[in-house]
Amino acid sequence: MKIKIGILGYGNLGRGVECAVRQNPDMELAVVFTRRNPEDVAILTKSAQVCHVSEAEQWKDKIDVMILCGGSATDLPEQTPRYAAMFNVVDSFDTHARIPEHFANVDEAAKKAGKVGIISVGWDPGMFSLNRMYANAILPEGKDYTFWGKGVSQGHSDAIRRVEGVRDGRQYTIPVETALEAVRNGEDPELTTREKHTRECFVVLEEGADADAVEAQIKNMPNYFSDYDTTVHFISEEELKRDHSKIPHGGFVLRSGRTGWEGENHHLIEYRLKLDSNPEFTSSVLIAYARAAYKMAQEGQTGCKTVFDIAPAYLSPKSGEELRAALL
Ligand code: NAP
Repeated sequence: MKIKIGILGYGNLGRGVECAVRQNPDMELAVVFTRRNPEDVAILTKSAQVCHVSEAEQWKDKIDVMILCGGSATDLPEQTPRYAAMFNVVDSFDTHARIPEHFANVDEAAKKAGKVGIISVGWDPGMFSLNRMYANAILPEGKDYTFWGKGVSQGHSDAIRRVEGVRDGRQYTIPVETALEAVRNGEDPELTTREKHTRECFVVLEEGADADAVEAQIKNMPNYFSDYDTTVHFISEEELKRDHSKIPHGGFVLRSGRTGWEGENHHLIEYRLKLDSNPEFTSSVLIAYARAAYKMAQEGQTGCKTVFDIAPAYLSPKSGEELRAALL
């Protein structure tokens, strides 16, 4: 019996989950729900249906885990608790400051319904959080560093597009190599925002727009660019399409710690991700946690969980015996 998956919301993540299901033979995609007219949403899986979200409740007993692929800003705070009252759910909620509130809402709904809800799954939050936690537990005396990139920041790209005179734009966040090296060398540097990351923008101008004015406005934008060394390149629409249409991302989680009676020995833990497609990787993590949600629900567990609460073996399709023989 395969684990029956539902997808709610068919954007980048929804499409990524559909691809990821195909790589996991213990799962099958049953249905995709959308708020749009289902006829306007074309999926790739021939055996699955596309339905309007208003029909979700009718699928309560037909799918094992619903993967919520809406946006973190406004969709998930509302969708995850609502659907945790009907299904085992997994989401990728990434507004770090609002995770405690989101956890409480999902926990209440999931406990009432006897379901499992796993929130904030992906790479950050997600795999990066796990690696920070492991490293902290192992090296209590030390310092944490997270660097992001090189990758596209959706929020910063949106901010560029809102500047007058800009037709389209892409923003890459890039870690500063010398800062990374200082951490790796055990120098335990205190790094300012500017010293950790640079920002690189590729901008397509509207006809007749003033390039100097646009560049100045981007570089001085508070919260987004003014605290960083930012470079701005003006390119054509064709170049943007050709060279900047992918959504790469990644980064580094490091912990630099010391052990020994006098702290004489240095240790470095480094976890790196280099992703061609941020949403497809995030979706692959979501699928592994969907398997965990399924197994935990089968055991009778309920309520909200995060990556911290889930033992690694729940993520794998292999049995404990197989894992001990092959990977331990
Ligand atoms: P997205 O492509 O903008 O999709 C979000 C929602 O918008 C979809 O579920 C879909 O809902 C709707 N939508 C998509 N395409 C549409 C279109 N052409 N017209 C109208 N509506 C459309 O967002 P995403 O890239 O999948 O990312 C979703 C969230 O994942 C982000 O907000 C981010 O917070 C989170 N994320 C987390 C991590 C992590 O590491 N934890 C990593 C990456 C992303 P309907 O089908 O219902 O219309």
